[in-house]
Amino acid sequence: MVGKRGPILITCQNPDCTYFQIEDGKNITKNGHNSAGNQQYYCHHCRRFFIETKNTPLYDSRLPRTAVLIIAKHSTEKTSIRGVSRVTGHHRDTISRYYHLIGEHAEKLNDYFIHDISAGDCEMDEIWEFVPKKNKNLLTTDSEELGDCWSYTCFKRDSGLFLAFESGKRNIDTCADMLVRFFNRMELPTPENKISIFTDGNVQYSICLPELYCEPCLDYGQVIKVKEKNKLVYVIREKIMGNPDSKAISTSVIEGYNNKIRQRLSRFGRKTASFSKKLNRFISALNIFQFVHNFIEVKSSHKSPAMLESITDHLWNWSEFLNYHVQF
Ligand SMILES: [Zn+2]
Repeated sequence: MVGKRGPILITCQNPDCTYFQIEDGKNITKNGHNSAGNQQYYCHHCRRFFIETKNTPLYDSRLPRTAVLIIAKHSTEKTSIRGVSRVTGHHRDTISRYYHLIGEHAEKLNDYFIHDISAGDCEMDEIWEFVPKKNKNLLTTDSEELGDCWSYTCFKRDSGLFLAFESGKRNIDTCADMLVRFFNRMELPTPENKISIFTDGNVQYSICLPELYCEPCLDYGQVIKVKEKNKLVYVIREKIMGNPDSKAISTSVIEGYNNKIRQRLSRFGRKTASFSKKLNRFISALNIFQFVHNFIEVKSSHKSPAMLESITDHLWNWSEFLNYHVQF
């Protein structure tokens, strides 16, 4: 007796198909398994076969799923690539290649899921690293990508959602790019439902923010830390736009999260030899961290930041993350 067939959840994964990643109107049937044991599908629109792992880091993988899963789990546990290589027995170039594939997948999912986030208190800060040497050691022949690398990060205060980041030089262009990404991912605020932004005393934010938000919709405050001989002397909480509550002007939450990034990504560790050799690998690592922090890790009451923001209704696991297909 033939059992009842379950619904087909996957959409067409052929980029040339008019129904590529489109749920409405898809016409797909199962079509056996390939030699690696992966389910094969057939799209009746483009008349092409595709494997269930297409457009995921598991596609065309020489390693079995369980091995990729173990490598992926190491990516946010501060293990160096050589360390993962010693533990798993796979070559360091293989580990690095999978990290990059997983990072690209995470970037796609971050763009797909993080949008229309409700207005609230958001904190922004910058975290320093270098790729693969510090500015003072740069040669005139070195690429512009190399040297000090600043990641502008933004977290939502209550839910802890890692909203956006942008990595590059410490200049107004990198700051503006992060703010545009942030702007596109948030709901438009109104005078009744304002957005609140808190940063350090970096003047780049006060130049860029008025380009995106008008004063009645934004409360913006800066925490300016005055130091003498590397010791904190006093803190000024300054209202820059709108009328934020002075007590609310703080960046302590994002400083904690940026510290979490340093604790969890080996390449962000201070005085380490695990620094990034290429900028794209550095960005991949941050994208993985962003997805894992938002969807897989618990913030409070068994809920992830993405659950607290109603982006998802459940706690994700690594397998679901690696196998996920975006669909529209
Ligand atoms: Zn198709």
